[in-house]
Amino acid sequence: MSDKTANEISMNCPICGWTPENPDYLFLFETTFWRVILAPNQSLLGRCVVHLKRHSGDLADLSPDELMEWLTVVQRLEGALRSAFGAVMFNWSCYMNHSYRVESPNPHVHWWAVPRYKQPVTFGGVTFDDPHFGNPYDPHQWFDVTGEMRQTLVDRIQQALTMHSAV
Ligand SMILES: [Zn+2]
Repeated sequence: MSDKTANEISMNCPICGWTPENPDYLFLFETTFWRVILAPNQSLLGRCVVHLKRHSGDLADLSPDELMEWLTVVQRLEGALRSAFGAVMFNWSCYMNHSYRVESPNPHVHWWAVPRYKQPVTFGGVTFDDPHFGNPYDPHQWFDVTGEMRQTLVDRIQQALTMHSAV
């Protein structure tokens, strides 16, 4: 693939186009190869998305270094979400289905990190429930919190991350 083609592909990619100014997908932390973002849908408290920082559309294309570093991201993020909100376990998924709804798919590897809760959790005056705990979560269940709450969640997770920085 020529550089020009690669640039054109990444220009049309919302993950490559993400910037820290994005009001819906808020930055949490990053490593050499991965970036962790708080997702707008907080139906499951602390739901995050982990972007591969280069444009690639297939897990089979990951390098060993990227894969090993992904493990450290899992460890840090799970540790932080357990201590911040009492998450019991996590559903990790790499779908990329939406990219294939169009004629010329342009997927970009990203993982959904979805914390699961045995009991309702109240944070910042809002109660978050996980009615399907023990089963797959409902991907259509949407809970859009305010911008202020999003920032409060980011602050709390980042605080917890400082306790899980050394893996
Ligand atoms: Zn991309």
